[in-house]
Parts: sequence; C-alpha cells; structure tokens
Amino acid sequence: MGNTNHPNKLVDKFGRHVDYIRLSVTDRCDFRCVYCMTEDMTFLPRKQILSLEEIYQIAQAFTELGVRKIRLTGGEPLVRTDVMSLVERLGVLPGLEELLLTTNGAQLDKYASALKAAGVNRVNISIDSLDADRFKRISRVGKLDKVLTGIDAAIAAGFDRIRLNAVIMQGYNEDEVIALADYAIARGIDIAFIEEMPLGEASDHNREDTTCSNDWVRSIIEAKYGLENSDDTTAGPSRYAEIAGKKSRIGFISPVTHNFCEDCNRVRVTVEGRLLLCLGNEHSVDLRTILRDESLGMDDLKNTLVAAMDIKPERHYFYDRDHPQPVRLMNMTGG
Ligand code: SAM
Ligand code: SF4
Repeated sequence: MGNTNHPNKLVDKFGRHVDYIRLSVTDRCDFRCVYCMTEDMTFLPRKQILSLEEIYQIAQAFTELGVRKIRLTGGEPLVRTDVMSLVERLGVLPGLEELLLTTNGAQLDKYASALKAAGVNRVNISIDSLDADRFKRISRVGKLDKVLTGIDAAIAAGFDRIRLNAVIMQGYNEDEVIALADYAIARGIDIAFIEEMPLGEASDHNREDTTCSNDWVRSIIEAKYGLENSDDTTAGPSRYAEIAGKKSRIGFISPVTHNFCEDCNRVRVTVEGRLLLCLGNEHSVDLRTILRDESLGMDDLKNTLVAAMDIKPERHYFYDRDHPQPVRLMNMTGG
C-alpha cells in the first residue's frame, strides 16, 4: 500500500456512489431498549474502541474521498466522554456538508444548543411511546420526561430538521401510531417509523410476534390523514409522505418488507473501527489495524476504503427468514 492512486470517490461494483457514512462513537448506552440490546449487556473494553482522534481520522479520510454527510450514532453518542470535542472538529471538516446525530434524547436538554453551535444540521431522536410506563418497559431504564424535555430543547435550538424515530412493535406500542404521529405534527417536526430488524438479540420477545410492517403502520396513519408520497428521500433509507397543510413529514424505513438496496449510498464504521459495507451482511474491513500501525498513513487508509467498495454486497435479506442474518447488535453496529 502507500500509493496515492485512489480515485477521488467511492463507487461500488454496482455503480452505487457512497457519499454518506454512519459513525458509531460508542457502544455504550444509558438505555437498554428491548429491540436493541439485552438487559445485562456487556460493553467493549476501552482499548478495543477507537479514540476520538481515530474516529476523526476516519471521517477525514472519507470526506477526502467525497463523503458529504456523516451521521454520529451508537450506542448513545451523547454518553461518550468528551464527544463534543469530536463534534466540534467534524463541524468544520472541509468537504462535509451535513453533520447529523441520532440520539435517544435523554441528554439533549444539556447538549442541544452546543450541538447546533458546533454545526450539527439535523437530529433524529428515538421515542417509541408517550406513556411513561410503556416507555420504561421498552427502554427498560429510560425516563420519558427526560426525552420530552430533550425534544423541546432540540426544537428551541433551531436545527434545520428534527425527526423522531419510532419502532412499532405488536404487544408494546402498536396502538400509539397516531399518538406519536400527532405529537410530531403538533410540533412541526418529522417522524419516521422503523420496522424492527432481525439484528442482535431481542431477549424479551420473539420478533416473529412483534414485528409490524410499515404498510400496516402507514394504513393507520392514512385512515386519519391522507398521505401523499414525497420525492424527498434526504438521501437515506427513509421514504417520506406528506400530509396536506402540515409541515411534518411521515417517514417509513421498511428494511424488512421493502428492499431499498439499489440506491444505497452509505456504509458504517463501528466503534471498534470495523467498516461495515452493509447492515445486513457480514462483509467488513478492519480499519483499526491500519490506524494503529505507525508505518501506515492517511493514504493507506483511503486506499483501503476505496478497495473495500468492491465487497459492498448488492443487498440484504432481512425479508427472507431462511437466509442467515448477520450476528450483530445495533448498538455495536451504529443504527
Ligand atoms: N441511541 C441512539 C438512539 O436510540 O437513537 C442511537 C443508536 S440506535 C441503535 C439508532 C436507531 O436504531 C434507533 O432509532 C433505534 O430505535 C433503532 N434500532 C435499534 N435496534 C433496532 C432494531 N432491532 N430494529 C429496528 N431499529 C432498531
Ligand atoms: Fe440505546 Fe439507542 Fe439501543 Fe435504545 S436503541 S438501547 S437508546 S443504542
């Protein structure tokens, strides 16, 4: 390695151009959501996780290869010590057009205005119930009022766009589709419904009993509000619909029932520095070894990223129960 012959962009074998990365900044979390992790989750030893400097170097390499959009996720990004120092550096990273964050919202009252000032354009805030007891059942330890205060703080901070994320599950919150949509509509913010994915361990339930299709969720909303499809995809997996006269958009992320792989423009990096070419396949590349090898530099990292595009799989198989699924936890992967 060591040559600088890489093209200035990331294109895979299927002609898809990768210009969006999701970086997991921690596997840790102050919640234990039933669809994401077990109650007695064991987190990674510190030496296995990337330093904030190493995460920054990865972001830099990607932007030099044409990535324009970075989402920080986890785990819960806001529990990482000193995460704001990373956010501030990314906020002024040359070439980066959008810096996004996905959070459970529990600490947004503390961080929202600093995130906005550091250059975060948009935030996604996960909320699966507006009922305090249910919220606790789903998150196992989360407090609803902290998240609601966090959402208010995000609205007050004036991000370009705020989107709520809700995973609707039979037996947990399937009767709250309208309440959650109404909550978003009343505040003029977006909401996306995410189908529960067969990733990691759901120890409290059997996913075959809980997973709700977004066609069903959509039909519930459509019965109250007429929905019109929007062309705006915000270059992610969400398909949006609009409600006449309302500012809020309703998004549907439907990896289980609708395959959206043909226009996939993104890859992920885990907090261990593993580049994941697809959420639903095992294909990955170890970046941490390159970062920690003193004989290698930025060009080696960039060459590795370019070469990795060749193994980006064509699609995932979440909808095929007979197809083996990768053994992954969402907090490790970066949802
Ligand atoms: N802690 C932050 C949060 O909850 O927003 C960021 C990380 S979390 C892994 C990112 C998103 O993934 C959340 O919206 C969460 O609801 C979603 N998620 C986690 N596990 C999931 C699963 N098995 N299926 C579908 N969505 C999942
Ligand atoms: Fe934590 Fe987010 Fe996973 Fe919930 S979904 S346990 S908040 S990482």
